[in-house]
Amino acid sequence: MTQSFLNYIDGQWVAAEDRVTTPDVNPANTAEIVGDFPSAGRADAARAVEASAKVFPLWARTPMPQRGDILHRAANLFEARADEVAEAMTREEGKTLAESKGEVMRGVSILRYYAGETMQPTGEVYPSASANTFLYVERVPVGVVALITPWNFPVAIPAWKIAPALAYGNTVVFKPAELTPLTAWHLVDVLEKAGLPAGVLNLVNGRGSQAGHELVENALVKGISFTGSNEVGAHIAAQATARGAKMQLEMGGKNPVVILADSDLEKAVELTLAGAMLSTGQKCTATSRAIVQREVLEEFRERLVARAKALKVGDGMQPDTYMGPLVSAEAERTVLDYIKIGQAEGARLLAGGEKLRGDEYDCGYFVAPTVFDQVTPDMRIAQEEIFGPMVSVIEAQDFDEAVQLANHTRFGLSASIFTRDLNLALRFMREIEAGIVHVNSQTAGAEPQVPFGGFKSSSSGSREQGKAAREFFTQIKTVYLDPL
Ligand code: NAD
Repeated sequence: MTQSFLNYIDGQWVAAEDRVTTPDVNPANTAEIVGDFPSAGRADAARAVEASAKVFPLWARTPMPQRGDILHRAANLFEARADEVAEAMTREEGKTLAESKGEVMRGVSILRYYAGETMQPTGEVYPSASANTFLYVERVPVGVVALITPWNFPVAIPAWKIAPALAYGNTVVFKPAELTPLTAWHLVDVLEKAGLPAGVLNLVNGRGSQAGHELVENALVKGISFTGSNEVGAHIAAQATARGAKMQLEMGGKNPVVILADSDLEKAVELTLAGAMLSTGQKCTATSRAIVQREVLEEFRERLVARAKALKVGDGMQPDTYMGPLVSAEAERTVLDYIKIGQAEGARLLAGGEKLRGDEYDCGYFVAPTVFDQVTPDMRIAQEEIFGPMVSVIEAQDFDEAVQLANHTRFGLSASIFTRDLNLALRFMREIEAGIVHVNSQTAGAEPQVPFGGFKSSSSGSREQGKAAREFFTQIKTVYLDPL
């Protein structure tokens, strides 16, 4: 029998007010229902916000190291159930078990990192022009924050929002993506068991247009941290700006890898493939354009195509699977549409380009690893985020043209270059319009102690993770203290 789960509001596990639920479906085998989850409406979200607002003064007053102790306990509890959470993630999102386990352990690191941050300074003392004034600046919490997350990193992204939000004294209403409620449930469950007071963290599963919309509009919500598509991000930006709420948006990418003639070609091929195909290309930092210098284009293309065709695609629960299914029927449709668009635009399909068929695939959303070449910079497949296992090979004459092509997009999340030339690597770091730059490694990958986020349309400009998270989750109070 399918297990039913609940939302977590004001310290209680509760059903949605109107009792509506949504099944959580395994994208590798749609006959399997992973769980049944509440579909909260606006009223449920509003109740969560009220609970969060009520307890905010208490949580803001709780000594920071005490908040850190709770995060530390949650990290230990999460680590103890890492295998169970990884399995849940693979069953509801589709990525391979190895990737899921890696992400769960990343979640543990993030919780530990922000537990540690609760022992760090919260302000600075300044010299004052007046002899008696004690002049200092303090970081204080923002208030109730709404955290709205996508399905593609269902542990890491919620963790890198929830942990700093709580560490810096905010109370939280967390609305995970509809497609990955079970991993979200685990994260909230360990935080509850670690000892969070009622109302400090609330979990509201529901549709973006209902629960999400309420969180964005509710005047008690002082900050909105959103990761997701540009389309939804633009909508949230307009609403949040109109009512003066603080906001942070991390959105799409169209990430390039530049392969120069002097690169280690074997490594470049392997890491282009990993960047493009791991997580089925569904990473905001996935490689979607391979910009290759003319001299090595043919060899690169041949090796890439051979490797792409040999990849093992299948259920992420199987240990030999390199690439799992797409997350949903809609995601599969989008990718198949873009394959048609690429062909219609005149790009040459070299590998994949089709839905996989057969016993192993018929009940899931499996698309073959797809490689296009003869892609020109203004084609839609070179400009729009596809979010699937698809990479476009683009020819460049030299370094300058490669950088110009790499920057020729409205996005600017991550970028990578393969070269042995230190001067060109340094020029790339300076000239590339991206928030995250890699040299001789893939476009994907992020460590929790450093800032994460993009340039241009990939972000609203603020950064997540590391100490950078403090910018969003605190506000500055300047105090002039004159003793009598
Ligand atoms: P999405 O924009 O469809 O949904 C993201 C979240 O927003 C979900 O929780 C959804 O329910 C909610 N939402 C939808 N409509 C809403 C509304 N009107 N008001 C409030 N909330 C609403 O994105 P997705 O399909 O879940 O995720 C894929 C996208 O996320 C891709 O574009 C990807 O590049 C991006 N992404 C970016 C980063 C980053 O850090 N830059 C990381 C991961 C994913």
